[in-house]
Amino acid sequence: MTAKILDGKRLAKRVEREVADRVAAFRKATGIQPTLAAILAGDSPASAVYVRHKQAACERVGIASRLYQPDGRSSLEILQLIDQLNADPAVHGILVQLPLPDAVAKEQVLDAVHPLKDVDGFHPENVGLLAQGRPRYVPCTPAGIVRLLAEYGLEVAGQHVVVVGRSDIVGKPMALLLSQRDGPWGPQYANATVTLCHTRTRNLPDVTRSADILVVAAGQPGAITRDMLKPGAVVVDVGIHRVSGRLIGDVDYDGASLLAGYISPVPGGVGPMTVAMLLENTLRAAELLNRR
Ligand code: NAD
Repeated sequence: MTAKILDGKRLAKRVEREVADRVAAFRKATGIQPTLAAILAGDSPASAVYVRHKQAACERVGIASRLYQPDGRSSLEILQLIDQLNADPAVHGILVQLPLPDAVAKEQVLDAVHPLKDVDGFHPENVGLLAQGRPRYVPCTPAGIVRLLAEYGLEVAGQHVVVVGRSDIVGKPMALLLSQRDGPWGPQYANATVTLCHTRTRNLPDVTRSADILVVAAGQPGAITRDMLKPGAVVVDVGIHRVSGRLIGDVDYDGASLLAGYISPVPGGVGPMTVAMLLENTLRAAELLNRR
């Protein structure tokens, strides 16, 4: 079997065209341009690349983007900046690029973002709403994954979904989103039986082999190999690693694609969908903040 490719790059382009049309209509109706403020603290080259991609995508769809680069030597400067952006009516979305430098108190910073401007969906209020099955902003990576599955008609209701990794930004919200009774893409893209795996999971290969759909966000290159899959499974690879100048994921792509039914490539799978969902969330923030 050779797996079909879950082409996130192509779908993201289509989502961008849809968002661009909606942004234009919103601007015409309100005279307001949706605006995203990105905070890039510290000097991680990878973070700088991600933020650049996000800003370029904003530009393509007519969303204004602003970049702020506090030095990241303490939380204070970032917290003051967030206060300012929270109070600025021209800013609709605030994105704090992670990871933050060690000197910065991550929770304190994420908690400071106004919940209606929290387009990443990391504020406790938005996490709580997601947990209760009434999401305001779904975190961009899990949202992009479900949107990608829906595009290929890969319904998750009743399926066994195994999520590897329990981070607050991918693994946990992914598990929450898929196990609800309903979701933004309808009940067929919710109602899964979800197993959430992590570093203390016993016999990981046995668990992953029982997955109809496997979402891998372990942050370990090549953590998932072909022998850990059920034949025909849907494999979604969230990991991104630069190894010898090449981007690879958490899944051994060449081996896995011989056994899987569907697989998302790295690059060109989940990454572009994450950015596309950020655009949707930013437009939504502008809409929510300007409700008449
Ligand atoms: P993280 O790096 O914060 O945490 C990894 C999680 O995986 C932990 O919960 C850990 O318990 C678990 N884990 C690690 N090794 C494991 C193993 N061998 N078996 C079982 N569990 C294991 O996670 P993150 O921030 O979600 O990032 C994961 C990966 O996804 C990284 O490579 C990151 O760069 C990438 N990422 C990509 C996107 C995208 O848009 N494509 C978005 C976010 C993160």
